[in-house]
Amino acid sequence: ATAFKDMKVAVFGLGGSGLATVRSLVAGGADVTAFDDNAASVEKAKAEGLPTGDLREGDFSRFELLVLAPGVPLTHPKPHWSVELAKAAGVGVIGDIQIFCSERDTIAPDAPFVAITGTNGKSTTTALTAHVLREAGWDVQMGGNIGVPVLELAPPAPNRVHVVECSSYQIDLTMTLAPTVGVMLNLSEDHLDRHGTMDGYAGVKERLVVNAKTAVIGVDDERSAAMAKRLAIAGVEVVKISENDPLDLSGARALRGAHNVQNASAVRAVARALGLDDAAILKGFSTFPGLAHRMEISTPGRVVFINDSKATNADSAEKALASFEKSFWILGGKPKTGGIEALVPLLGRVEKAFLVGEASEAFARTLGEHGVAHDFCGTVDKAVEAAAKAAEASADPEPVVLFSPACASFDQFRNFEERGEAFRRAVLGLQL
Ligand code: ADP
Repeated sequence: ATAFKDMKVAVFGLGGSGLATVRSLVAGGADVTAFDDNAASVEKAKAEGLPTGDLREGDFSRFELLVLAPGVPLTHPKPHWSVELAKAAGVGVIGDIQIFCSERDTIAPDAPFVAITGTNGKSTTTALTAHVLREAGWDVQMGGNIGVPVLELAPPAPNRVHVVECSSYQIDLTMTLAPTVGVMLNLSEDHLDRHGTMDGYAGVKERLVVNAKTAVIGVDDERSAAMAKRLAIAGVEVVKISENDPLDLSGARALRGAHNVQNASAVRAVARALGLDDAAILKGFSTFPGLAHRMEISTPGRVVFINDSKATNADSAEKALASFEKSFWILGGKPKTGGIEALVPLLGRVEKAFLVGEASEAFARTLGEHGVAHDFCGTVDKAVEAAAKAAEASADPEPVVLFSPACASFDQFRNFEERGEAFRRAVLGLQL
């Protein structure tokens, strides 16, 4: 980020977004020092050639800015430093979204920028916005609190739109948030640990929309409705959206339920503000596959493939199994306590099971006891192949292959995302 050239910046918290922050600031010519209490994280940054330091002296006088990673609480209880200490030393405390905003103000102030927040539905709304705009041919960069850290995205440009999910933590560390379109979906009690009161929490969320060119606000709860009124009086262009808006989502498989009317209605308002017509918007809704790895739909042919890699326990897999009358179920991985015992009432919905990973033997016993046919497949690749074959052979006009592992992924993968990618690749590689 060139907006911080030659500034003396401390970055604390070297997870994914912290590292992206350090890289971006270094590339922009800032004088950066990266910190973390975790020695392994510091080593990792060092190995990459990034400038690291030690805050043990608690001396902030040599910095102008402190960038906090989103996961670091403002009350971070450190013996040798604190956010208060930094503030007392006259250091500005910010987050990575502020760096993005400053960069945009510097290099492309008119670049389209959609910022999205709310207590619930942020990720769905963000992913759906990105999908609709992409389907309409836009160059879309999506990230922030979802997927890729905002400073890992391509920089703002006039013909490129950034769609950024913002948590209240991130908004709290952003002073100049002025998106082209700001979305505030809803407010309910959550995260009061940091913001103290509901008013404090709502106040933080309001900062995302108050300087937006267009503010899209869900008015289904009283606080959000009051916010919409206040902003309209202040002269902000406000579009109110609700769970009761007339919106036909019957063609949108991944957008079931009333709460998705609120989400989709918000997305429609964003897309309209950016100049899309309703036909393009509805088309985007109908092809939306859902959130990555969370009941994500793909239909390369007759068979419907569902990527629910996020289901790392029986509870989540239960919801997935219950969503289909019948399915060809791929499961397994590193088992959790209790295995799939809790899923016994739903086993009647399983046409056949395809087992992968460490849990195979144990799960096969449970399946066998309840008369469910199953194959040992070993890997996700092999399971996809076998399940697809069985599904193709079935009489069902729209057979479902459901990948909802009910297990952790660590026996074969680094995380559920990597496991979901393996499933996605295997499906793409099928000769259908
Ligand atoms: P977030 O990113 O805010 O956590 P998600 O889009 O990941 O939200 O959705 C998480 C869960 O919250 C969904 O599974 C759904 O049950 C619920 N949800 C989604 N959208 C809404 C909404 N607009 N209002 C209330 N609950 C919702």
